[in-house]
Parts: sequence; structure tokens; C-alpha cells
Amino acid sequence: MTRTPAYATQAADKPLRPHAIERRAPGVHDVAIDIRYCGVCHSDLHTARNEWNNTLYPSVPGHEIVGTVTAVGKDVQGFKVGDTVGVGCMVDSCGHCDSCKAGEENYCENGFTGTYNGPTQEDHGNTYGGYSGNIVVDEKFVLRITHESELAAVAPLLCAGITTYSPLRHWGAGPGKKIGIVGLGGLGHMGVKLAHAMGAHVVLFTTSPDKIADGKRLGADEVVISKDPAQMAKHAGSFDFILNTVAASHNLDAYLELLKRDGAMCLVGAPEHPHPSPTVFNLIMKRRALAGSLIGGIRETQEMLDFCAKHGIVSDIEMIAMRDINDAYERMLKSDVKYRFVIDMQTLKDEAKAA
Ligand code: NAP
Ligand code: ZN
Repeated sequence: MTRTPAYATQAADKPLRPHAIERRAPGVHDVAIDIRYCGVCHSDLHTARNEWNNTLYPSVPGHEIVGTVTAVGKDVQGFKVGDTVGVGCMVDSCGHCDSCKAGEENYCENGFTGTYNGPTQEDHGNTYGGYSGNIVVDEKFVLRITHESELAAVAPLLCAGITTYSPLRHWGAGPGKKIGIVGLGGLGHMGVKLAHAMGAHVVLFTTSPDKIADGKRLGADEVVISKDPAQMAKHAGSFDFILNTVAASHNLDAYLELLKRDGAMCLVGAPEHPHPSPTVFNLIMKRRALAGSLIGGIRETQEMLDFCAKHGIVSDIEMIAMRDINDAYERMLKSDVKYRFVIDMQTLKDEAKAA
């Protein structure tokens, strides 16, 4: 066991504070990773504040992890000390159900183990995530990072990147397709970049007029202010696919009406309160589909990282110190993040040393 500095929250209404955790000694299949950067996902906030009613405390969030390998178990094949690696939202799964066998561990029928808030055999009972100095992970859940620079900006690919890449691929984003991305936050800005790189015609829907120029810079061909019914009406019945990343409950019909026959809208946002039910007629009249998607499997996450390295895609980030995490959460709630906070983990290590 190694004692490791971290930031944890002890209850839904408490801020994140310095907290020491234990990491297991690497087993034969494990990779020990010194964490250099960790992205801040809205799911971290939902979890820290128990908005999904399933948080185990103390909670150490963080599932957009990039770091350096410091040790490997004796049976590890794919990684060596000094490698730059990533860890996303999962650290384990059953490995034998149909989904795991298909490489879709994110849909493990026995439930995957989340990087944080997941069940663990270790004494503390729940996994601790990337707001910490290091982590020990089975090599099956460790990703290769081939980007040569901007490592901090690679971190958000491990959740925001794969969560948007997977449905865009599944629903065939590419040349000749009109694709909508709803919400320009951490997930949304990756959705815009990825759909653009896949060759689709990309339309960004935002509630924030000050994000229009950024939306175009990031790769949107058109930007629609979703609060303006006249702008929305112009796109009625025209989309092949809409990826909805909004983190709050809202009217889904406003977007379903924009799908063409056989079009689909996929929800990836996971708000605390449910959306009002959409109108059934909006679906049946054009055989439209409303779907959901959860992160992506390990094989597809590696594919996404390699795609991004090839196309020079990283996240647009604002680097923060670990101690600024509570302010960052408040700003995220105001949609005031351009477009992902990433924690420089050296600040945590320095803080722990000074304490
Ligand atoms: P984020 O950075 O906070 O972005 C969410 C965006 O949604 C905001 O920037 C804003 O964009 C828009 N928005 C926020 N409140 C809104 C409201 N009341 N009405 C309309 N639009 C609103 O969050 P994120 O990290 O991208 O995460 C988004 C959601 O996805 C969260 O619920 C998160 O838990 C979930 N998530 C799901 C998965 C999955 O596997 N399915 C994975 C990761 C995260 P504009 O300013 O452009 O309107
Ligand atoms: Zn996430």
C-alpha cells in the first residue's frame, strides 16, 4: 500500500478538501501511474454532490487521467516504466459477459468498476479517482497516449472525447451527414471537433451567444442559439443525428423536431432531474429515435486517442491548481468553462509536501 495525497469530499454539501488515500501495491497485471493531469468532468460534480443518489463517501472524483508509468507487475505486456498513459472512466469489468467479450466493457452486464465511486475489493469499499497523486490499474484498462505534446489537453479525451466519439461513430457521422451538437461544454466542444474531423456538416446548438465565434473556430459550420425559436425552426426536419450533451433537464421536443425521417438524437448528458417526456407523435411521425450512450469501450477509446493524435485534436483547456477545484465546480455550473478544466497534479503534490 502507498499513501497518496488526494482531494476528497465527505458529503454532498461539503467542499473538496485535502485527504490521504491508500493505493494497492501493483499486482502482476497492474500498472502504477504517477498522475500528471486530470480533467474535470461534470460527472465529477454530479458525483461529489450526490446528484445521482449513489455516491459513496469519501469521494475522490476524476476520470480523465494522464500520467507516467512508475512500475509494472511481472505479467504486464503492453506497458513499461516511463510510458505516457491514460486512464478513463473504468478500471475493471467482468471480462466474460457478451458486452465485455465484444470489447464494450462500458456496457458490462455485471457492471464495470468506475474509476471512482465503483465497488472495490480493497478495504475502503469504493474506488478513488484521479484527483490524486497516483493510481494503480490493471493493464487492460490502461490506454496508450501517442500525442507528443499538449499532454494536459489530452486528458479530457479520456471521458469527454470517447463519450462523444463513440455515438458519432455508432450513428455514422461523416461526409454528407448533417450532425447537431447540443451544448458547448467539455463534451460538446469535443463533439464539435470530432464530428468536424469525421467530415460531417456540424451545427452547434448553444444557449450562450458569447460562444458563437468559438463554436465556429472549433469546427461548427453553423451555430444556432437554441433559445431563439425562429433560428431553431429554420432547421426543422433536417438532421441525420443530434448528440445532446446538456447537463440539465430541458425540452427534448425542440430538438426531436429537427430530425429528418429516421434521424436519431442520442442523449449523453445525465442531469440530476429528469427531462419532461417528449411527445410520442414527434417520434412516430418520422420514425425518429431517441437514444442514449455511455462513454465507450477500451478498444474504441484507444481508437479515439489514435484518431485524435493523427488529426492533431486535443481539448481546449484551462489549467487549474488542485486547490481551485471548488471554484471550478461553481464556474462549471454557470457554463463558464472554455472548455475543460484540467488539474495540474504537480500542485497537489507540492501542497502535500508543504503540509
Ligand atoms: P459541462 O462542461 O458543464 O457542459 C454542459 C453544457 O450544457 C454547458 O456548457 C451548456 O452549454 C449546456 N447547458 C448547461 N445547462 C444548461 C441548461 N439549463 N439548458 C441548456 N443547456 C445547458 O458538462 P460536461 O462535462 O460536458 O458534461 C455534460 C453532461 O454529460 C453531464 O451531465 C455529465 O455528467 C454527462 N456525461 C455523460 C457521459 C456518458 O457516458 N453518457 C460521460 C461524461 C459526462 P451552452 O453554454 O453551449 O448552452
Ligand atoms: Zn466524465
